[in-house]
Amino acid sequence: MSGLRYKDKITLVTGGSRGIGKGCVEVFVENGAQVAFCSNDDEEGKHTERDLNSRGPGESWFIYGDVTKEPDIKNIVEKTIEKYGRLDCLINNVGTHPPPHPIDEFSAEDFRKLIDLNVVSYFLFSKYSLPHLRKTAGSIINISSLVGNIGQGQAVTYCATKGAITSMTKALAIDEAKYNVRVNSISPSNIWTPLFDSYLKTCPESEEVKKGFENNQLLGRFGTIQEVGHACLFLAADATFCTGIEINLSAGAELNYANKNMRPTTS
Ligand code: NAD
Repeated sequence: MSGLRYKDKITLVTGGSRGIGKGCVEVFVENGAQVAFCSNDDEEGKHTERDLNSRGPGESWFIYGDVTKEPDIKNIVEKTIEKYGRLDCLINNVGTHPPPHPIDEFSAEDFRKLIDLNVVSYFLFSKYSLPHLRKTAGSIINISSLVGNIGQGQAVTYCATKGAITSMTKALAIDEAKYNVRVNSISPSNIWTPLFDSYLKTCPESEEVKKGFENNQLLGRFGTIQEVGHACLFLAADATFCTGIEINLSAGAELNYANKNMRPTTS
């Protein structure tokens, strides 16, 4: 089949059963790749695998695992190599955004758990995948977040984890260049995913709040999971002279002066 941009390339996506990870698996499978993906949701993972395999032309393969556990991460990478024999691309995507709170309402334990999921999992997947990626001159793509750079109210722990991912990307790009392994990141603004959907369900004025999130972007809408997948495909397949970069996948959300005074008004 012609026009397949990642045909027969082996890709591993973390947290691929839904949301942005699923969008990445979908776009890579559409482009002929063989994609292993993990999730801690067995039913959803199997459903995604069946759904994407019915469309092809590449293949998706689900591996169950909890990425906050190092032995699970080791097992996921090992199973991928056992099945496919090589690895061309790792997409570190798994992560969550806790509900909004000021610092007073986050505990150290909350923060440590978030670091395990949002940061240590990226570190460990990279560590166990790199011996294989060095053999193929492959690449790592880290899903960070725009707010890791520009900050976000009531999200001190989340922003700290995403700032760490942007920095980790650059540091690893330096170390791995000698093996021809490229390490890049994507920083999305608001992408419509189940994570967003479940947050909005907790808001009393959910339609109004949703509109506000759409209007964070100059283009006045959420991004799609497939648009993130396409940006990943660009980094994996085409961007052979890019390493250590961060793509703002944000429809201009970081642009334009606006009213930002947070101080209480005095009469
Ligand atoms: P999501 O909740 O919709 O999907 C998360 C995926 O990770 C699911 O497949 C889930 O099963 C998996 N997962 C969660 N905990 C796991 C664990 N312990 N072990 C294994 N798998 C686990 O989230 P999303 O909105 O698609 O976000 C994906 C990534 O994109 C995150 O890193 C998030 O911070 C980042 N991001 C999202 C947005 C957005 O607007 N949605 C914006 C910027 C960055």
